[in-house]
Amino acid sequence: MGIKRMDLLLDNALIFDGRSPSLFSGWIGVEQGTIAAVEHRTTPPPAQAARRLDLQQRVLMPGLIDTHVHLGLDASPNPVGFITSLTPAELALRMAAHAAATLAAGVTTLRDLGCRGHVDLALRQVVQEGLLPGPRILCAGEMICMTGGHGWQFGLEVDGQDQVRRGVRRQLKAGADVIKFMATGGVCTKGVEPGQTQLTREEMAAGIETAHLAGRKTAAHAQSLQGTKNAVAAGIDSIEHGADLDPAALEAMLKNDVFLVPTLAAGASMIAGGTASGLEDFMVAKSQAHRSARLEGLAKAKAAGVKIAMGTDAGTPLNRHGHNVHELLELNQAGFTPLEALQAATVHAAELLGFKDCLGRIAPGCLADLLIVDGDPTLDLQVLGVQDRLLAVYQSGQLRSGRWFQTPGSDGL
Ligand SMILES: [Zn+2]
Repeated sequence: MGIKRMDLLLDNALIFDGRSPSLFSGWIGVEQGTIAAVEHRTTPPPAQAARRLDLQQRVLMPGLIDTHVHLGLDASPNPVGFITSLTPAELALRMAAHAAATLAAGVTTLRDLGCRGHVDLALRQVVQEGLLPGPRILCAGEMICMTGGHGWQFGLEVDGQDQVRRGVRRQLKAGADVIKFMATGGVCTKGVEPGQTQLTREEMAAGIETAHLAGRKTAAHAQSLQGTKNAVAAGIDSIEHGADLDPAALEAMLKNDVFLVPTLAAGASMIAGGTASGLEDFMVAKSQAHRSARLEGLAKAKAAGVKIAMGTDAGTPLNRHGHNVHELLELNQAGFTPLEALQAATVHAAELLGFKDCLGRIAPGCLADLLIVDGDPTLDLQVLGVQDRLLAVYQSGQLRSGRWFQTPGSDGL
């Protein structure tokens, strides 16, 4: 291992590898964008490396993974008005800016759970080609909702099993990585209640089967017990938001290996902003009404051992892109240790996305998506939200953002 010439050697680091309960001092070697070696400091690093960086005991950790984002929403008080009023060209350019801000915040992978007109798929492509900066993007394309259901303004309205199948196939044809179903009403759509059941279990089962046949995972927006039960019985892979979870629902989630993505930052942002920030009354009222049900559901899910992945729902009102750390802080407040919150945003999020062997950890064989942090986020998550503390963001071994600049021989301050 020590003989091979590394593309990049990050030496003298304090490593949070995603799994280990504590940090350890050591170094990692990167070859062709992949982590090739992770060693404790007792093992001497190779003498040869194309680029070598002495981290001086700064923390090295996996890039964050946000499993619930809407790059097409602008976090204004009226993001639905935003996404529905712009031309596709305007929307694409603004989404590119949202993606760049998200990457600069240390999010190296995200899942976009609902956009308009497949602009998300176009953005995914240009980011993949390296033409624009952004996290790796997994896209849902258009959300599958019932006629007049939550998100209808930019989702695809379908009714009945055949229409749901067709709707899913349209997303698959466009190249969606994941399919999103609306199992209940929601906060941001006027006139629908979060507790109201929307797509039926039979409709979702037809759509989920169609997605699974194509090897795609599925996510359900569900803000009530019945909606969650319907989605889980239909075969869903993750429950987004969740609320009012009872023992039977939790048992079904455990049995079927269903993740919960609590998205606490969404409601918290609206409650903190209030109507003074320009939000409509009904949004603030619904957020407040559902806050305790969400927190209780999360606490029960955590206690039951349900897997939990980090998702911000960034783009929803006042829940801005590039402030993804907000969700980690919310999880912390809800009883997660900083380490547990970080695991929800790394190793567990990677598993939900189907990348547990190549993302979310610092381990040989994983992609070199890495953050260098001045401060220890396992003690204080706040350091991740301070621009000067996030020293570097790497994707596949390439420096994308931060205060450490690449020079021909080494990366340095
Ligand atoms: Zn959402």
